[in-house]
Amino acid sequence: MAETIRSVRGINDVLPDENPAWARLERVASETFATYGYDRIRTPIMEHTPLFERGVGEATDIVEKEMYTFTDRSGDSLTLRPEGTAGVVRAGVEHGLFHNATQRFWYSGPMFRHERPQKGRYRQFHQFGVEAFGQAGPDVDIEQIAMSARLFARLGITGLELQLNTLGTPEERTAYRQALQTYFSTHRDRLDSDSLDRLDRNPLRILDSKNPDLADLIADAPTLDMHLSEASRNHFDTVCAGLTALGIDYRLNPRLVRGLDYYTRTVFEWVTTDLGSQDAVCSGGRFDGLVGRLGGHSTPATGFALGSERLIQLMEAQGVPGDDVAPHAYVIAADTIPSAEVTRIAEWLRDVLPSLRLRANAGGGSFKSQFKRADRCGARLALILGEAEVEAGRIGIKPLTDAREQTTVELADAPQQVTAWLDELALD
Ligand code: ATP
Ligand code: MG
Repeated sequence: MAETIRSVRGINDVLPDENPAWARLERVASETFATYGYDRIRTPIMEHTPLFERGVGEATDIVEKEMYTFTDRSGDSLTLRPEGTAGVVRAGVEHGLFHNATQRFWYSGPMFRHERPQKGRYRQFHQFGVEAFGQAGPDVDIEQIAMSARLFARLGITGLELQLNTLGTPEERTAYRQALQTYFSTHRDRLDSDSLDRLDRNPLRILDSKNPDLADLIADAPTLDMHLSEASRNHFDTVCAGLTALGIDYRLNPRLVRGLDYYTRTVFEWVTTDLGSQDAVCSGGRFDGLVGRLGGHSTPATGFALGSERLIQLMEAQGVPGDDVAPHAYVIAADTIPSAEVTRIAEWLRDVLPSLRLRANAGGGSFKSQFKRADRCGARLALILGEAEVEAGRIGIKPLTDAREQTTVELADAPQQVTAWLDELALD
């Protein structure tokens, strides 16, 4: 036998047994974004490398150590997208979507980061995200936080904490950077090599460090408060008051700076205590400078991204059921019945009941083995085509989820009978 080839480390399959949870997340997310009038946008998985260097920021973990960058056969440097925002902004600028227009978009798909794989941290993972463009006011910040809260509520996830901070504007951060540089320079001996590296280039990012040895030092670091302009202060106060008015609890976290470079003013993160150290399931905020930085006319913007794998782990940890995606019914047929006849009946049932999930047995087999396959796929009903039934223009119906007996009905009545059975079984 030839040697088997395994999947790439940190890049995983999503097997069919995980479908119910994924289906629920995908359904609830797209329904919730639609509830707020967001339009779906689909951008490519690969972009020119400079898009992320400029769009995410040179002095970030993503650009410094996590990107999958390669040279293609034309000699172009391409990168598998590590996040969704840069591509959405590029598409908006390229197609003129931001001219005299406000836009609200959502996206989803795989993202790629070369990180150390562990629970909740993979090299290919999936995000859902939203972005709104053209609105500078705090109402959109509030809308998006409310939308994320609604999404979690609809999913059935509880116990998340919303952390909130403001990063002010780049000008306001200049003074703050200096204050941080001074503070961390006086404690230079306690910094790790990553933080030393960030000290000159982007000292705010030291606040984002996950090194537990730095926790105390970071806790005592100066905060941005005193450098905020009145406009930034008002913006933030309005966001806080808006959330309170909607009954959305939050905790102010002055250390929340987010890993990405491009945020301005509002930043937030939803965290859980149920997943261990990979505790952030959603993060976002305002990024008024990014469209300009990527060559567009200056356009205010705000967005967030959710980590699908972490949300699904959280659903599992909290016992949230997934969507039912198993076949409703499984067609079992005696091998004396021509398969064309079985197919014709199955196709007819699908014509009449378009939402019926019907799996037809293939490859013959005894009744016993066909029943086994029906059970294994999670179907609730077996539809049985025995010789006698077919001759009489009838079909057998047997619930698989309990010991109830098989009934036999006129084929013409089957759609109505199947529907009635499924309704009854769904109530059990
Ligand atoms: P973390 O601090 O955990 O590295 P991050 O700040 O890098 O997260 P973002 O870039 O804000 O994450 O991405 C948004 C969400 O995507 C995160 O809140 C998380 O749920 C998810 N996420 C980020 N990186 C990964 C990964 N490598 N594997 C799985 N999910 C991830
Ligand atoms: Mg990260």
